[in-house]
Amino acid sequence: MCRFATEALLSARSIQARARAAYGRIFLSVGDREQTIRVDWLAFLNNCYHRPRWLCPGCGRGAYHLHDNAGIFACRACCHYDYKSRHRQRFNPAFGQIAKLRRKLRADPPLSPLPPGPRWRMSRVYYDRLVAELARAEAAAYADVGRLLADLDKRLKP
Ligand SMILES: [Zn+2]
Repeated sequence: MCRFATEALLSARSIQARARAAYGRIFLSVGDREQTIRVDWLAFLNNCYHRPRWLCPGCGRGAYHLHDNAGIFACRACCHYDYKSRHRQRFNPAFGQIAKLRRKLRADPPLSPLPPGPRWRMSRVYYDRLVAELARAEAAAYADVGRLLADLDKRLKP
């Protein structure tokens, strides 16, 4: 929504929506539903600057993003959404580090052999440091997988 426009017609994914801004509020109508979202101005840097944020219609919490939850816009907490990073590689965080180090070493497929040492593109010290970090991360991942398998064995035994 444009800051200066008082009314805008939004059309995305074949959903017609009408938004109107007045009195520090956004009046949003999607189909036959109408929703009022208040805008709050958060002061920062000793009141020198002000940043707009939405006040969630469900809980009143200040939020920079509101999510469409079946036609009702609400904050992340009201929609019961969680951050993706909290669930990615949760049982073994070393896998992400291994992938990152392998990309830096240009050994992208997970179990491929490492490329030979550098000649010009990167220094030998940097290459050796990355290889040592990779060895540590792979040892940690191996230990974690061992622990995971032991836990699974415990669960299977009555
Ligand atoms: Zn909320």
